[in-house]
Amino acid sequence: MTLLTKIPLLRHSLRGKVTLGYYAVAAAILVASLFFVGELRTLEERVVLGQRATDLFDSVLEIRRFERNYFLYHQQHDLEENNRYIKLTQRFLNDNQAAFLAIVSLDRQEQLQALLNEYQYQISALPTANQKQLLLLEPRVRSLGKEVVNIAEDMATLERRQIQSTLVAFRNLLLGVILGMALLIVALGRALSQRVVRPLQAIEDSVAAIKANHRGTLAPPSDDREIISIIAAFNHMLKELDLRQKSLMRSERLASLGTMLSGVAHELNNPLSNISTSCQILQEEVGESEPETQKMYLGQIDQQTERARVIVRSLLDFSREKAFKKNPVMLRPLVQQTVGFVRGQVSAKSVVQLSISETLSVPADAQRLQQVFVNLISNALEGLGADGQIVISAQTLVVSEPPVGTALGSGCDFEGEVVEIRVADNGPGIAPEILPRIFDPFFTTKEVGHGMGLGLFVVYEIIEEHGGCIAVQSLPGQGATFCIRLPLQEDIDSAAMLDSQGAQS
Ligand code: ADP
Repeated sequence: MTLLTKIPLLRHSLRGKVTLGYYAVAAAILVASLFFVGELRTLEERVVLGQRATDLFDSVLEIRRFERNYFLYHQQHDLEENNRYIKLTQRFLNDNQAAFLAIVSLDRQEQLQALLNEYQYQISALPTANQKQLLLLEPRVRSLGKEVVNIAEDMATLERRQIQSTLVAFRNLLLGVILGMALLIVALGRALSQRVVRPLQAIEDSVAAIKANHRGTLAPPSDDREIISIIAAFNHMLKELDLRQKSLMRSERLASLGTMLSGVAHELNNPLSNISTSCQILQEEVGESEPETQKMYLGQIDQQTERARVIVRSLLDFSREKAFKKNPVMLRPLVQQTVGFVRGQVSAKSVVQLSISETLSVPADAQRLQQVFVNLISNALEGLGADGQIVISAQTLVVSEPPVGTALGSGCDFEGEVVEIRVADNGPGIAPEILPRIFDPFFTTKEVGHGMGLGLFVVYEIIEEHGGCIAVQSLPGQGATFCIRLPLQEDIDSAAMLDSQGAQS
């Protein structure tokens, strides 16, 4: 597979994007290098040309040197050398005519050739000239020689200047390309980091949102293969966690059912014995009592049967697995019933006091709220001594600060109207070192077989589901007080919002 066919695949993976970035930088460096190699070649050609212009100038100077020697010493040898250099220069000019066009025009070269030819002609006449002719020839040769030198010098100077300006242009170009490359690398780096970091940041934000709300799933923020597989693995993990949590909740509810059964048996005992008594009286008085009296006993039997039915229905309601749903719940009857259910554990002298208004209602899931009370009251009862006391109070409050003590839950910072429920006992209390851990799953101080360590964890989960807050205050030997706050009105139904997010993704 070639790189070009790979590009669409690379664009859909983080590794691919980084690789593409590297390729882009490598390609830019390659193009810049090729460009500079080309520029260096041009520079090299200019230097060679400059060397030729200098050689031409040196050769012309040699012509003049031997001309001067000849005028001084009249040696045939100097004239021969002068002639040799003239020929050399003429050949040199002919051979490099095209190259010298980069310095001077063809006209100027032809002018130099013509001057050289003229110079050669004049100087060759010197040995055979008489004194009078010499007087005319000598200044003519000198002046022609001077002109030839001037043109050759011009050519050398011009070429030197051109080399200099080419060098300056090359330097500026080099700086420009380095700057351009730096900008390109920075831009590529930014683009890469945005494409790679942005999805990671989006995942981080979604994970934080899920952590805060304990619900929902992640939606892939980009179509990169790695991100999609991380999100799939994460969502799978969330689903597994959710299933495990539900199964923990189920086992905790079953454990609570076990706790409640003895209380329920006790609760059922009263109506059953009332029914039995009424039946016995009716049996004894068959045909003797007034119809009104019979009606009264039958009414009592009906009432007590209904009471037993309510108890059995509540137990069934508690045991059934239901989806979370908030409804207005009358608090006092719920707490009263729960205390009745867990009564089996209450020692004869322990007292459970309720300070809850008959009319107080709270928006909650009744089944889950009952689970909260079962767990809190059971925990309180378990530690109570002979003269133990539990006070359960509730009231509506407008709050602006979190409750005092070790507080947990997304609703702890809620400001506004809440129902605050307190379950306080005068039992052994909780040691400060274990206080921060009591809401952790499987944390227990009880002996093996006496506690799973899930009671308070489930309480916290339920309060969290309600968008509420739970706090505990306790000192060893001075009992423990659990404070629950349930908001009365919620601006946004966070659960519904998360569900809709999950549906969108
Ligand atoms: P479990 O009851 O199975 O131990 P919980 O999560 O209900 O699990 O409680 C965790 C621990 O918190 C208990 O083992 C106990 O040490 C402590 N605890 C909870 N409630 C009270 C309380 N009212 N008084 C004293 N300790 C408590």
